[in-house]
Amino acid sequence: MNPLKKISTLFKLLRQERQYRLRLEFVLTDYCNLNCKGCTHYAPVAPKEFEELELLRQEMSHLGNVCGSEVRECYLIGGETLLYPHLTEAMTMLRRYFPTQKLSIFTNGLLIPRMSDEFWQLARELDFHIVITIYPVKADYDAIIALCKEKGVKTEVYGDRSQQDSFFRFPLSPVKLRHNRKIHLSCFNRGCMSVIGGYIYPCSISGCVSHLNRAFGTDFRHEEGDRLKVSEIGSAKEILRLYTHPVPFCGYCRKYQPADYGISRREASEWIDEE
Ligand code: SF4
Ligand code: SF4
Repeated sequence: MNPLKKISTLFKLLRQERQYRLRLEFVLTDYCNLNCKGCTHYAPVAPKEFEELELLRQEMSHLGNVCGSEVRECYLIGGETLLYPHLTEAMTMLRRYFPTQKLSIFTNGLLIPRMSDEFWQLARELDFHIVITIYPVKADYDAIIALCKEKGVKTEVYGDRSQQDSFFRFPLSPVKLRHNRKIHLSCFNRGCMSVIGGYIYPCSISGCVSHLNRAFGTDFRHEEGDRLKVSEIGSAKEILRLYTHPVPFCGYCRKYQPADYGISRREASEWIDEE
């Protein structure tokens, strides 16, 4: 990249940092009914586990109290979010603690035709957005999107993974680099503040890494500064720092690249670069 372009990209990124307003992603499960190569929640190797409802309530309540006014939007996310067995309770709690924020449910859409009347009614009453990512699988996405609209629920499409360059590979390397500012600044996952198991991580790549360790015997570790314990957070500023500053875990990350969509064969090379 020529030097002028580099400087203009840097300014653009710094401007984005200044304008950023918090977005919290409550991860309900990393388990999924699809099996995508290189998934950023490591769903193909994630166990069928779900976030405890009471822990979720404590996380939402604490974050709503200490920094709700500075949160722009919250997601319920997976894995496949619609597989969460307590989804309607989670929706009700999220709206209770974040009464004015934009609230969204992220989904691959496949289970939409099977959702209950209670779900649709709550989604309307609590003003949830259904955000669908389209995958190149056998599903009638036009009908799925039309159904959401027919149910009177705000619906958005977040990416079509059948398009070229719409999927990315975010490799980790067991060799940790110290100078991680550059990787962090250009990181596509920056800002995906992931609330998982009582902690906030700057991204799912770090937050869900235990699935990789379990599946492939790797030892990607969290150090001081990699995450915040939700119950100890006192202000939004502490969370924002996870967005604006690299954390030690960023040293494992290597440059992300567009990748063709594919089915996972649950191989380590989908996520890990040996160096
Ligand atoms: S649908 Fe999303 S969460 Fe599920 S495996 Fe694919 S990328 Fe991962
Ligand atoms: S650990 Fe840092 S560089 Fe890696 S994906 Fe997360 S925010 Fe980006």
